[in-house]
Amino acid sequence: MKLSLVIPCYNEAENIRAMYEACHEVFSSGVESYEMIFINDGSRDNTWEVLKSLLPIAACPVKLVNFSRNFGKEAAMYAGLQQSEGDYVTVIDADLQQRPEVALTMVQYLDAHPDTDCVAAYQEQRSEGRFTVLCKNMFYRIINRMSEVDFRSGASDFRTMRRTMVEAVLSMKEYFRFSKGIFAWVGFETHFMPYRAEERNAGTTSWSFWKLVRYAIDGMLAFSTSPLRITTGLGMVMAGASLLYLLVVIIQKLTIGIDVPGYATIIALILLIGGIQMIMMGIMGEYIARMYIQEKQRPIYIAKQILSGGGNELAETQKREN
Ligand code: UDP
Ligand code: MG
Repeated sequence: MKLSLVIPCYNEAENIRAMYEACHEVFSSGVESYEMIFINDGSRDNTWEVLKSLLPIAACPVKLVNFSRNFGKEAAMYAGLQQSEGDYVTVIDADLQQRPEVALTMVQYLDAHPDTDCVAAYQEQRSEGRFTVLCKNMFYRIINRMSEVDFRSGASDFRTMRRTMVEAVLSMKEYFRFSKGIFAWVGFETHFMPYRAEERNAGTTSWSFWKLVRYAIDGMLAFSTSPLRITTGLGMVMAGASLLYLLVVIIQKLTIGIDVPGYATIIALILLIGGIQMIMMGIMGEYIARMYIQEKQRPIYIAKQILSGGGNELAETQKREN
């Protein structure tokens, strides 16, 4: 098998047929062999029924993984990579925002450059609102400063990897998956290719602003321990400052003998220090919570069903007759 397409699907019933057709059009002549792996990530619409309807008609081999609930795109990608058999594996969204034509140019690039292990698409120009773009750029600036690996601004999960890199990604079995970080962490030679994200074919994005914020925090915690170090630094600065202030008070008392300074100052300082301590404990708590859940060694996802089919020569002609 030359190419595996890993396609996570959450409420994508209206897009799957179009996605299949588009991939078929591009890859049936573009590569010698390919398979499609769809992961139904606990969709609430009839995504699973639509996926099953592909089995008898698909011209390429098709694998379907049905999750027992919504585990998130990260888990879906992991399941897809596990199922993949191709020398190259492409992770691509089901909503046709990421065009199969672009994926084909990735494959061709890998063919032409044996030393490159991965071709990743990034958006030169984001099509989202200005506020979202601002937040995303800020996120990349902060995380690059905090973390040892390099995050490419605008890079998506849309990428084609060689098998060696896929195995490396699969060897990272962490429960809190942040694939942008994982892809960067495993290393390998990655070529970044600019692309333009299309409009969604149908449906709406499942990412709300707060979901993105949560995801960003997850990423920072998963790939950096500097929040912990920052809290240590902050503690030291506070302790140093209060020591200095103590000295000032003692000297004032001894020289000019003034009374205890204002009540308001003391209350304000107590509240400030209390607040900072809470924040520090919160940050520690986030890491401990992650350790706790990772320690339980829960599986990354649970699949109810894994089906495979497709790949029949007749499929194309049958489809035409219909
Ligand atoms: N997705 C998923 N599980 C989720 C959310 C999304 O598998 O919990 C899939 C979704 O079906 C799509 C891809 O991940 O194929 C990207 O999601 P979406 O289009 O909502 O994100 P956006 O393109 O807006 O970043
Ligand atoms: Mg999308």
